[in-house]
Amino acid sequence: MKASRVASPPLPEACDEVLLSEERITLRVLELGKALTQDYQGRDLRLVTVLRGGLFFLADLARAVDVPVQLDFMAVSPYAPGRGGVVRVTKDLDDDITGASVVLVEDVVDTGLTVNYVLSLLRARDPRSLEVCALLDKDVRRIADVPIAHRGFRIPDRFVVGYGLDLRGRYRNLPYVATLSEDALERR
Ligand code: IMP
Repeated sequence: MKASRVASPPLPEACDEVLLSEERITLRVLELGKALTQDYQGRDLRLVTVLRGGLFFLADLARAVDVPVQLDFMAVSPYAPGRGGVVRVTKDLDDDITGASVVLVEDVVDTGLTVNYVLSLLRARDPRSLEVCALLDKDVRRIADVPIAHRGFRIPDRFVVGYGLDLRGRYRNLPYVATLSEDALERR
């Protein structure tokens, strides 16, 4: 719901339907920001996200939080099948998180393997607290048990794009979340 734009862009051909409109996302992110504001009064809040999918969510969430907050970023390579969810860190955090109240901001928790591994890396650095705030939760596909303290939406087992989520690097900048068509999925 950005004032500068009057209408959402049309649905790309590769997509079936808008699953979460820009308005729904905006309202939910505001609610999540309020919840974090209540929980993190007087704390050294660090919002950390894994590039690149969490970028837009982090940017909107950080502006919906009304406590001092610092932002930091990681990047990981996708895990190879059969490696138990072990990912390679291609960009580490810039700041030390020892003693900080860290919230890992995730675009989507699917099998949970990636976030589980990232959590284990962060936990080893002795933050004061460590919680997950995930915009989307595809819980029917969960393999690793992930504690999600704050969740935007539960979604069905569909591949989605938009609001940071991509298909081979495309569609991240759609302001809504849309389901990808079976055809486009087969072509991916
Ligand atoms: P995991 O299966 O929970 O480890 O998720 C791994 C990563 O897969 C997520 O961080 C996303 O980058 C990506 N992913 C999972 N589901 C989707 C989706 O529906 N659309 C786009 N990316 C996805």
